[in-house]
Amino acid sequence: MSATSASDLAQRLLAGDRRALARAISLVEDDRPEGWELVREVYPHTGKATVVGFTGPPGVGKSTLIGALTAARRAAGRTVGVLSIDPSSPFTQGALLGDRIRLSEHFLDPGVFIRSMANRGALGGLSEAALQAALLLDAAGREDVFVETVGVGQAEIDIIDHADTVVLVLMPGSGDSIQALKAGVMEIPDVIVVNKADHPLTDTMVREIRGVLSLANLDEAPGGAEDSAGPRWRVPIVKTEAAHGAGIPELVERLDEHRAHILAEGHLDERRRRHLRGEVLAIATARLRRRLEDELREDPEFARLLEEVVARRLDPASAATALLERSSPTA
Ligand code: GDP
Repeated sequence: MSATSASDLAQRLLAGDRRALARAISLVEDDRPEGWELVREVYPHTGKATVVGFTGPPGVGKSTLIGALTAARRAAGRTVGVLSIDPSSPFTQGALLGDRIRLSEHFLDPGVFIRSMANRGALGGLSEAALQAALLLDAAGREDVFVETVGVGQAEIDIIDHADTVVLVLMPGSGDSIQALKAGVMEIPDVIVVNKADHPLTDTMVREIRGVLSLANLDEAPGGAEDSAGPRWRVPIVKTEAAHGAGIPELVERLDEHRAHILAEGHLDERRRRHLRGEVLAIATARLRRRLEDELREDPEFARLLEEVVARRLDPASAATALLERSSPTA
């Protein structure tokens, strides 16, 4: 792609052209240099979208919930972009979207852009590609960007953590997640949804979650929790029946409240600064690693070091030290 057509693509993207957006996301997904170029060009126009990430075990109803939220946001006249990240699928789009995302009612709405990503880009991986794609949706003027991970292997996908608001979706009976929260394996989200609230064990579930939150002093109970950093956010638990739209207006309200809270307290800027720092480091780390691997592939001295390690004459850590101490391979 020539420089002019790249710039033309950027202009069309900034004007909100859906086909330009689709093409742009494919470029970053395929880890093409033009993709990075494009992001560089449109980046100054990003930062306006409200990005909400959805996490939770498969089957709890994340896609259904996003479908219902999309309808609510559209009814309020806002444009929506949905990124569905599936690290477990070797396929992109097509079947995946049809099967997994319960968003079919939105496919024909030009105010809704839905995209599924599964490719692992060579540099920085799927997570990085997904972050770039979220930037592109933002640049294209999508006011609400919903990001979800589907399938297994979610742990390696930290895109959700880069959202402005993180929603954990659970359903009655998904006790593993409560354990994960309790053990601190899972970060405490900003909003917790108990979907499939038509289930008889819903209130038990809500009580258990409340227990975990109160241990972390993050429950909704009034009083206390005012420190020098201002009023603390109390993680709300919202009961929904996404399939029937029940609880959606309350969820919308809680999401808006969280947005207002982080804006008022200056937390949004703080969060974004932290996320961007992480992203810059992640890209730099991926590049260093790739550079190192390229340089060592045919390196006889490295091969010798490795032989020493294999023969148990040198331990791996000492070999790494020796490697880094010789003329710096990354300089
Ligand atoms: P995801 O894997 O978390 O994205 O879950 P899906 O959105 O694909 O939903 C999984 C299944 O749960 C689908 O068959 C949905 O129709 C169903 N489902 C979603 N919301 C509800 C609900 O509120 N109640 C019930 N009973 N089923 C629901």
